[in-house]
Amino acid sequence: MAASLYKAQFALRICEDHDKKELHAYCKTCEKKICSSCIKEEHHQHDWETITDILREKKHSLPEECKEIRAKQLPGLKKELSRFDRKIEEEEARFEQNKSILNGSRQSYISEINQLFDDRIDECRQKSETAIQVYKDKREGLKQKVEHLETMTTALEKDINTLPDHDILDMEKEMREELEKALCYSADKFTCTAVFVPGKLDIQAMQNMIGETHSFSMEEKYNLDKFSSRISCVKPISDTNAWVGEDRNMYAKLIDLAGEESKSMKTSCKDLVISRSGDFVLINKGKRNIAVLNKDEKTISTIDTKPLYPAWISKTENDDLLVTLKDDGDIHPLLPTSRRIVQRMTLAMKVLQTYEFREDGKTRLFTFPGRTAENKNTDICVVNVLSENTGELVVLHRDGRLKFTYRGHTLMFDQFYPHAVECDSKCHILFTDRYSGSIHILSAEGMYLCTLCQYEQLNPWVISINGGDLWCGFKEGRLKVLKYKN
Ligand SMILES: [Zn+2]
Ligand SMILES: [Zn+2]
Repeated sequence: MAASLYKAQFALRICEDHDKKELHAYCKTCEKKICSSCIKEEHHQHDWETITDILREKKHSLPEECKEIRAKQLPGLKKELSRFDRKIEEEEARFEQNKSILNGSRQSYISEINQLFDDRIDECRQKSETAIQVYKDKREGLKQKVEHLETMTTALEKDINTLPDHDILDMEKEMREELEKALCYSADKFTCTAVFVPGKLDIQAMQNMIGETHSFSMEEKYNLDKFSSRISCVKPISDTNAWVGEDRNMYAKLIDLAGEESKSMKTSCKDLVISRSGDFVLINKGKRNIAVLNKDEKTISTIDTKPLYPAWISKTENDDLLVTLKDDGDIHPLLPTSRRIVQRMTLAMKVLQTYEFREDGKTRLFTFPGRTAENKNTDICVVNVLSENTGELVVLHRDGRLKFTYRGHTLMFDQFYPHAVECDSKCHILFTDRYSGSIHILSAEGMYLCTLCQYEQLNPWVISINGGDLWCGFKEGRLKVLKYKN
């Protein structure tokens, strides 16, 4: 390393533009070494100094600066090194885990398949045995007739002169009857057979059966550190612009990736929704209403939610709203009169569905419902606060039946306190966890998949997906745009 550095310096001692002239000065404007001809020509007006002068100063200041870097910056960077080491180890362990899950499935699928083939063989055997039995019965019947006919025809042929007359007549009658019956057996051409028709090997179905590999990655694209309080809502409207609301700011602002504000809108709420046509839907906790405003912020309609107050709002795929409504009570106690509901309504404020109780009509779905998100498979995901510092994720079918509840049991933390929830294009459920300062991902069926990111000094607070970007607002008043691949 050191040797190659010296070499590079040595090669640059002679000016490339002016043959054999020594590079004895340094142009600060261009940040390059220059020779006496350079100084006269293109660097004439620039800020330059001789290398000797510069070094006199540097020999004094550089060691101090290096000491400072070693003391203040290297430890942090070294910690980052160990973070990568940890990631490498985690990914190696992850591969082993994936492999063992697949091998486990392989074993159980193979024994299932063997069983299915054995079942088919048994089925074939049973059907053929039934056919064989019928053949055997018919053969036995015919055999008796044949033997009887053999006896009678022999007797009539050979003993016709010695048999009594009556017997001859009886025997002839019987012989003809037996012959007719025997001919019937041979004429019915009875057939019974079992044929196995093999099915087609459905590779697609087998692939679905085995499962697929999901790969999640995240990378920071932009980091804006210009907010003074907790970010309460982020609603991107394009790749470069988003409406951002803060806890201690009465205005939601439309900002770009440089943090420049192009618009602002007065709102008393911490949450807002922008419809497909660009209308704003705002909730007002104090006034207990929901208002729809057009692009010019003129109120189009307002709906009263009294006596309940609207706490959070989100938008569904078909431009309906999911509104969280609550009574004035605290999280606890839950009284028979408590109302803790999520309502699906149209932009014209027509209530389409109220989610409050389970199928029995008695058991509550929510203790203290928070933020919501509709999944692409039309499931409804609701953050449910259980106490001052614990919560769960409740996922409902669109019709309100409970699909699953996730309480963080598969996470490596002793507490679970989800805050914001969002769904991606492949129906994965992303949520921020206040307890661990992380963003986690669940499958649509409620299986914990991975932790997308975890911060030591920051708390991801609100999230919103726009195309391939995940916009994340932090509790500490920071906004990041993360490139998100799933
Ligand atoms: Zn030169
Ligand atoms: Zn210059």
